[in-house]
Amino acid sequence: SAKGSGRGKYRFYSSDLKDGANHRRQVEEDLRDALVKNEMAMHYQPIIDVSTNEVSCFEALMRWEHPDKGFIPPAEFIPVAEEINEIKALGDWALERACRDAAAWPVPLRVAVNVSAIQFVHDDFSGIVERVLKSTGLDPNRLELEITESVFLGDTGRTQRMFEELKAIGVRLALDDFGTGYSSLSYLRTAPFDKIKIDQSFVRGATESGNNNRAIMSAIVGLAEALDMQTVAEGVETKDELELVKERGASHVQGYIFSAALPNDDVMALLQTGSLEYEARGPEKYRAD
Ligand code: C2E
Ligand code: MG
Ligand code: MG
Ligand code: MG
Repeated sequence: SAKGSGRGKYRFYSSDLKDGANHRRQVEEDLRDALVKNEMAMHYQPIIDVSTNEVSCFEALMRWEHPDKGFIPPAEFIPVAEEINEIKALGDWALERACRDAAAWPVPLRVAVNVSAIQFVHDDFSGIVERVLKSTGLDPNRLELEITESVFLGDTGRTQRMFEELKAIGVRLALDDFGTGYSSLSYLRTAPFDKIKIDQSFVRGATESGNNNRAIMSAIVGLAEALDMQTVAEGVETKDELELVKERGASHVQGYIFSAALPNDDVMALLQTGSLEYEARGPEKYRAD
């Protein structure tokens, strides 16, 4: 009957919500001991210099293989880690692992590590960076820290001090996901970024005509050049997108058109071949993370 199916639908919907809440609770609980259970890994995605087609840097991206739920993407677990106060432990672990891996690469390329705003404003963050560089032996200028505009929401004095401490150590700074946050151009006057990463939302669909993304991309590249910063176009998937971001003047490109993030063993194998050159490839050759 109509009534019956209605009730059925309602029941289905409500158990869906319950499943969602259970899933979330399970993720929270399991995240707390994911590190000790050895479920976390760091993968590395090449960033290509468009003038040479060679990889110049790898971005370190965290991967969580949950024992029952399988792969859980960072877009899901990083915000949970921030809420339940686990981001510091995870972030420190990621930094240490990425620096240790990079220090052993046969070619001394740079590694870019994502840093949550919560980690960044922690008083001892620059001290942790210093200790990790010392213990892993990684040259400071081979480490790039990727932060987002959200660090400018908090105590600006503290943020500025952290920038100065990190610059004194000699690490590089990149502004991630540029254009998606609480963008205010005023902070670019004083923040010592070496690189601006143009968010993939500006790349996606930029090849369609009548799209404002092209104009925005040109403006970001122009701004970065004037401020003596490099640019990375994020999330480039197709040849059309690659052509467009090159035409708009981006100095670096990152995306599935070249490669997804790779396990460190694959990075080692790749660097041992001696060739850093990368070829753009079709989407059919996407490599799973
Ligand atoms: P992000 O820092 O902007 O990293 C780039 C994201 O874009 C990565 O997603 C990468 O796999 C994805 N990507 C790269 N090329 C393409 C492409 O061509 N197409 C598409 N659709 N996506 C592409 P991932 O690894 O899922 O990470 C998502 C976000 O999670 C990262 O965004 C970063 O904000 C955060 N994250 C990842 N690892 C860490 C970490 O170790 N620490 C912190 N604090 N955050 C992390
Ligand atoms: Mg990043
Ligand atoms: Mg990004
Ligand atoms: Mg992002």
